[in-house]
Formats: sequence, C-alpha cells, structure tokens
Amino acid sequence: MTTYNGYELNYSIDELKKMTTEEMTDVILLSPNSEEYLSLEEGDKKALRHLVIAAKIFNNVSLKQDNALNITMKQALEEAAPNNEQAALSLKMFNSLNGVSGLNGVDKEPITIFKGLITPAGKNFYPQDLTVEEFHQILLNMFNEEKVTEIAKILSSRTMVIRDKNELKAIDYTEYFKDEFSEIANELEVAAHYCTNSLFKEYLSWQAQALLQNNEEMDMLADKHWAMMQDTPLEFTISRENYDDEMTPTVLENTELAQKIKEKNIEVIAKDMLGVRVGIVNKKGTEVLLKFKDTMPQLSSLMPYAEKYTQSINTTTELKQTMVDVDLISLTGDYAQCRGGMTVAQNLPNNDKLSIKTGGGRRNVYHRQVRLSQDAARTQKMLNAFLHPDFHKYYNIEADHLFVIGHENGHSLGPNSEYQNSPGICKSIIEENKADTISISFMPEYVKKGIIDETTLKEIYTTWIFRLLLRAQPIFPTETYKIVDLIEFNTLLKHQAIFFDENKLIHINFDKVSPAMYELLSQVIDIQLSKSPQKARQYIEANTTWNDLHEYIADTHKKLGLKKYKNIVNFF
Ligand SMILES: [Zn+2]
Repeated sequence: MTTYNGYELNYSIDELKKMTTEEMTDVILLSPNSEEYLSLEEGDKKALRHLVIAAKIFNNVSLKQDNALNITMKQALEEAAPNNEQAALSLKMFNSLNGVSGLNGVDKEPITIFKGLITPAGKNFYPQDLTVEEFHQILLNMFNEEKVTEIAKILSSRTMVIRDKNELKAIDYTEYFKDEFSEIANELEVAAHYCTNSLFKEYLSWQAQALLQNNEEMDMLADKHWAMMQDTPLEFTISRENYDDEMTPTVLENTELAQKIKEKNIEVIAKDMLGVRVGIVNKKGTEVLLKFKDTMPQLSSLMPYAEKYTQSINTTTELKQTMVDVDLISLTGDYAQCRGGMTVAQNLPNNDKLSIKTGGGRRNVYHRQVRLSQDAARTQKMLNAFLHPDFHKYYNIEADHLFVIGHENGHSLGPNSEYQNSPGICKSIIEENKADTISISFMPEYVKKGIIDETTLKEIYTTWIFRLLLRAQPIFPTETYKIVDLIEFNTLLKHQAIFFDENKLIHINFDKVSPAMYELLSQVIDIQLSKSPQKARQYIEANTTWNDLHEYIADTHKKLGLKKYKNIVNFF
C-alpha cells in the first residue's frame, strides 16, 4: 500500500473520477490571449506578472494557515502524480479544496483526501493537538499570571499561536511569515514601479510596507488607499476574512473567561485567512455597477418605515464605497479554497478592520469569471426539470449578476448596524433576507429610470427564482443563505408569484414578484427596528415550512446530479 508521509489516500480511482468530472465545474480565468489583457499598456502587463507571483507566494501562506501538513502532502502528491492516477486525481481534489480537507457544500462531513487526516477547528492558527478545553484552561492560567498583553495577542486576528512550555505564544503574521511577506513586498514594489496608474502605484507601495511591519496602522493605511480606487486598470486585493478559525470565538462561550476578557477590555477577533485576487477592471461591467449605485439615495426614501430611522445614505453625504467589475487572472489562498462554492462578489474591508473603525471606505469587487462559469448542458437539464418552457428564454446568468448588485447595495440601506445585530443568532438571516428583498423589491425602479428594460426585469426574476430551489432542507441557523432562500421561495408561493402546474413545472406571475418581496422586506425592517430576537425567530419559523413540494425539488436535484467542486483554470 502506497502511503504519503504515512497517510493513505482516502478515495478510490472510481470515486475520484466521479468527483473530478461529473461533480466538478471549471472556472476559467482570463487568458493572456484575451482582448482585455492584450489591450493593456505594456507597463500594466509587466506589473500583472509580478502581482501573479505575489499571489502564488500568498497561496503557500494560506496553505500553512489552514493545515500544518498541507504543503508536505501537496508536494508528495505532485511527486507521485505523473506515474499514479490515484495520486493525480487526489491532487486535483487537493487543488480544488486548496488543502487536505474541507466541506463541499452538500455533504454534512468534510471530505478528506487522506485517511484520518482532518483539519482541526483552530486550523493551523493554533497547535494541532490543542482542544477547546485546554485552550480555555491555558488562558485562565495566563490571566492568573496577569499576562494580559500576551492574551490579547493570542486573541488577535493577525497572529499564529504556538505552544511555549505550558503556555501559548502568539506570533504576528509579519514575523511568522517573514520570508514570504518580504518576497511578496518585493514583487509589489516592482509592480508599483511598472504600473501606469498613480493611485494603484501608491496603494501597492503602502501594501508592501504593511507586509514588512508589525503594525496594524500600516494595514489601515493600505486598506484606505485600496478602498479609494475606482478608475484603475488593474485589480489586486489581499483578502483578510476570518470565517475559518473556529477556535478563537469559543472563548466567549466560557463564562469565566468571557468575564475576564471583558474586564481587561480585550478584543476577540477570529484569525484572518489570507488570499489574493489579481485581475483587470472591466470597464463596461463597472459602468453598470455605478448606475445602480447612483440610485441608492432615492431607494432609501422608498424603504419601509423610512421615517422611523436615520438613513445612512442620503443625497447630502457621499457614499464611501467604490465598486468594480473584474476579469480575474489569479485567485489564490482563501479565494481558491473552493469548499462549497466560490464567491461572486466581495465587499471589503470587514467591520473588524482598523480602516473601517477609523472612517475608511469600502471597495466592492465583482468576479466575472466566477459568475460566468457554468455548465450550459446542465443548466438546460435543470430548466427542463423545473421550469415551464414558456419561461426558459428568461433564464440568463448575466441577469443574476444584476440581482447580486441589488443585494450588495441592499446591505447599505435600512437601519444601522446596532439594529442589524439585535436579532442575536438570527441576525445574519435577517440581514441577508433584507439585502435579497431590497434587490428584488426595487428592480422595477431601475426599469423606470431606464437602467434596465422590461425583458431584463423578467430575466432577473426568473434567474433569481432558480436560485431558490433547494437541494436539501437547510440547517438553522448555520445555513444562512439557504434559510433565506426558503423564506423567499415560500413567500413567492404564498403570494402566487410562482405556482407549480400539473407537471410540476414552475410558472411565474411577473407582476406579483416585487410586491411579494416588498411585503417581506417590511417585516424584516420591522424586526430589526424592534430589536427582538424572539420576533426574528418567530418570523423564521413561520416562513420555513418544508413539505412534499420541497422534498420533490430536492429529489429532482439529486437525480440531475450535484456539482460539488470547482476547478480553477489559470493561464498566468
Ligand atoms: Zn449579503
């Protein structure tokens, strides 16, 4: 039996073949032969090459953050792959997950490429053998020793934590990844030298400095420059999001520990998983985004209960939000951990970052190649299975993008974050439900303004409704987006905005779609304004009925076969 650093491969050749063909979708990034790349100025082409190198080095950083064995196991697979089909296919799965294990968005348990090699809750941000109990006990002991500064470092978003005798010790990313970060900083400086745009040049220089110094204020300055870029030809982002670390947040569930943390005023933030996105800004796509953005002050006055709270967006203040549509050249690190899907748009920095806390803006980037990647034959099979033929012509994946724009902008409307956080564990469901219902409710307004036409409106409704057909009953409260989809699907049925005919095919009553969602939006705003977690829970319970019809949809999905994995195809 072949082993890899002592581990056996977990899946047979047949299983791997199925996973990497019928269950996998290619996401094809921009090629050097594309018009978008060829029409760049020479300086920007040169800059891109260096940004791609930086992105690749960052991938090694994130592999180390995710699992201590990622890099050695990847090397072992790469060595064996040329002469061993099972290793070659396992490597393809490794690259899809960008790690030795991960969820696929369908199955409850993570898939693991090697038998018995799992990734712990604290990823590799913490020692692999550290349990939650031991973690809490060590922190309590450290509190008794008055080691408050060291505890604050351990609970910070930018440190790797290692054992130090009986205690834990935190090492800042800029020190732990010193070698990688200084190489990356060099690449960024070279790219800054070549690129043609002065704002972009400035941002890259700040970002390079931030990688070299153990100083959160440098990140803040880099982030502020990054968020201001609206008219640059190139795109480069270092994503820092903290959804992967499941260890740090547990300290707040320990009453004794939580009390001490509060007394000492220590901020608890989960660790940032790093990732890099490189691309070229798509001018045409960006123009559409900006047209949508311009309507936001007017939409805020159409919000339910608009008179009951202060609008964060109005005609007198400028929205600190840039938006670009991007053709992707490279996605690495967190972006390439395709564990249950890939994001089609991202709005950064998140609220935990110093630049946001000190009044910096945000930048919203839409991922063209991710949204355009789909299997046309499979889409047709889905349409045949679910939608009456009269409506097939209205299915258009680019219309889905317009729905997403409306959704992202929707997060900037409505009561402020104090109200948004008030529904407790239901807060994300309520907030995402708000963004969806704002998007659909106000689509007719864009028709009135001549930004989209009547046919596009029908395409947006039809393509969005397709999103709501669930593959399984969603789990409360973790499967936020699927719970939201179920609420919206059930509401469309209740309002007869959609109905199933005798052949179980969907018909859409276009005139009823936006009014149904506006009614839901009114309920959601009312919940946020009430600050009542009970009200939120009752609303969710009342709208998430799961019956034979839902089972039928889930079964039909299963019969059509599920796409669970992504394969990012890079040319640079
Ligand atoms: Zn959202």
